[in-house]
Amino acid sequence: RAKQAGRNRCHFFRRDMNEQAVRRLEMEAALREALDRQEAGCPGEDAPFELHYQPQVRLKPNCLYRVEALIRWTHPRWGAVSPAEFIPLAEECGLIDRLDSWVLQTSVAQLGRWRAAGIPVPGLAVNVSAVRFARGDLPDQVRAALATNGIPANDLTLEITERLMMTEEVGVHDALDALHALGVTLSIDDFGTGYSSLGYLKRYPVGELKIDRSFVKELDIDAANRPLVRAIIQIGEALGLTVVAEGVEREAQHRMLEAEGCAIGQGYLFARPMPAATLVDWLAGEGKHWNECPDEDC
Ligand code: C2E
Ligand code: MG
Ligand code: MG
Ligand code: MG
Repeated sequence: RAKQAGRNRCHFFRRDMNEQAVRRLEMEAALREALDRQEAGCPGEDAPFELHYQPQVRLKPNCLYRVEALIRWTHPRWGAVSPAEFIPLAEECGLIDRLDSWVLQTSVAQLGRWRAAGIPVPGLAVNVSAVRFARGDLPDQVRAALATNGIPANDLTLEITERLMMTEEVGVHDALDALHALGVTLSIDDFGTGYSSLGYLKRYPVGELKIDRSFVKELDIDAANRPLVRAIIQIGEALGLTVVAEGVEREAQHRMLEAEGCAIGQGYLFARPMPAATLVDWLAGEGKHWNECPDEDC
């Protein structure tokens, strides 16, 4: 009996694994097809991918700092698929280059259109997968996207993860240097969750740290988070880096971050990620008070 139960369990386990593997394969095929469609141009209303933009705001004085582009994928049957699920898959199955290229080109073009229409969006942040850096053409692609749309390199930030900073590949180092030489800001996303070595902060031309949401999440609930957040802000100050806190949801977190001297905040408290057209409405309405910035270098 026990043996049978064991075999059943084993069988069940295998079937479960199979389902996962099948879902993965299906998702890979769907992702590939969606990219083909998107790249073929003008997929119109039912475009598989869309970019949402989430404001990052300067806390003192209050003003819009920039917006972060975040990809959204809607599958005809599955509905919205989380980037936390399909980005890692795209990295594993070799589709991330195409995906991130589309995001870069589309978001920089969007910034160009906003500006041409007189809509004051001060800057753009784009997530770039570490895998994307392994291919050497990123700096050229960034340069071309900026030039085509008349965007100064200063207005573009690339958000990368600590994982990238730990690679010893010469190509990656060269790409980071080339992007820095262009004038693009390099930001370390999810700072504090990757590796404990901080040596890369002096080796590479990093300009910004984003405090991971996990530290901000319980800032006003669990006292242990405050010294961590304070330490990250101090690292930033000591090295002359801008510090951004992500995942700010409550006023209490906002006040603490401000008290600790954090320059920039991002989170549902200020605004959720939204489609380009909604951002324009937000800037004119609910987010109006973030527009008026007395300091000209905001
Ligand atoms: P991330 O770059 O750290 O982006 C922040 C994530 O936190 C976003 O999730 C955003 O919607 C969410 N968020 C913002 N404010 C709050 C808040 O107050 N509370 C909570 N609970 N969440 C908040 P999203 O859009 O699901 O993206 C997840 C991750 O997927 C991103 O994390 C990024 O690593 C990756 N990703 C998204 N778009 C792209 C892309 O175009 N290219 C690449 N390579 N990765 C992307
Ligand atoms: Mg990011
Ligand atoms: Mg982040
Ligand atoms: Mg994060």
